[in-house]
Amino acid sequence: MSAITSQIKEYIECHKQEMLDKLKEFINLEGQTEEKENMERVRAWAIREFEAEGFVCSTTEVAPDRCGLLTGILGADRPGKPIQFSGHLDTVFPVGTFNGENPFHIEGDKMYGPGVCDMKGGVIIALYAVKALNHVGYHARPITIAFACEEEYDHEGNDCDKLITEYSRKALCGFNFECANLKNELCVGQKCQITYRVKVHGAGGHAGNEFYKAVNPVHETIRKLSDVINLTDHEKGTTVSATVVEGGRHSSAIPDLCSFIVDIRANGADEEERVQRQMEEIIGKSYIEGTTSEFTKFISKMPPFSETPEITKLFDFVNKVAAENGYKTFGKVVQGGVTDAGNIAKAGIPVICACGVTGDFVHNTREYGMVDSLFERAALFAMAVHEMN
Ligand SMILES: [Zn+2]
Repeated sequence: MSAITSQIKEYIECHKQEMLDKLKEFINLEGQTEEKENMERVRAWAIREFEAEGFVCSTTEVAPDRCGLLTGILGADRPGKPIQFSGHLDTVFPVGTFNGENPFHIEGDKMYGPGVCDMKGGVIIALYAVKALNHVGYHARPITIAFACEEEYDHEGNDCDKLITEYSRKALCGFNFECANLKNELCVGQKCQITYRVKVHGAGGHAGNEFYKAVNPVHETIRKLSDVINLTDHEKGTTVSATVVEGGRHSSAIPDLCSFIVDIRANGADEEERVQRQMEEIIGKSYIEGTTSEFTKFISKMPPFSETPEITKLFDFVNKVAAENGYKTFGKVVQGGVTDAGNIAKAGIPVICACGVTGDFVHNTREYGMVDSLFERAALFAMAVHEMN
């Protein structure tokens, strides 16, 4: 451990309570993607915090009903390419989901509250990494931030994804402070996400009197789905999940329509092509004569990315800093959950995702984060930035 990295460690050690207080304030300021006004309050909070550390912040609006992208730079006059910290400020929980105000709380070694892991904890890690760097007088490179405010809705209907890619182009590398798993893995690649919404049309009728005359779209859906779920390839890491099935209203009536949604996470371009081709063959085929089907397909605006030699180098470097400073080294994971790391990788810069709080049950009210990961990762990423050439 160098003199500087031990100063960073000590800074974080001395600010643990302050970090928890800051996180509490940030989490209790609730905001879900669709709640534009709440999200503007959340974003204003983040602007205030980062500006207090010397960042010059800007916002770019993306849609009339959404809170726009926050970007900022610290040390624009410093030499070299910036190091980028990123993520999002919105959560999936509408205000009130947690029954009352001030949902943040700590029990033992775990902390709870909307977005504690995904990913308000990560924003606090980024903020305190910056504070620690300022404390030790770091000025080797500019640091930039990019935080989306409608990430949980996948930038649907707007161009925030493109803004993030453009903004990332000038960076040396990026750390995306999304939630991390309990195995202490950093994410070096992500799968693509494709959503199919399928409508199966039949001809309804009385289940007793018109069994032979009716054409049952529920039966057609079941047959289709039994083939659809077999498109999963465990070895290749491609997963296919039926997530919604809706059809029928009355126990003795065959309905006219049945619909379903399928979520696909494909690993690599070949799998992406294979699974879409087979999916569309299954939708196009009528297992029961007389049924017809139609579909819409949505390919996530948070695109897949694969580990490149530059990502490997960045990952190895972070692990070297971890080992040298007495931290557990990280494992590697390719995630099925999509994030803006894909839009950053698209800019051609190496990026590592899942730099945020470790925890579990994200997107669920049981969500929790591990308290210690908040401190460890803030110190570690500050050290990594400091040690980077
Ligand atoms: Zn997230």
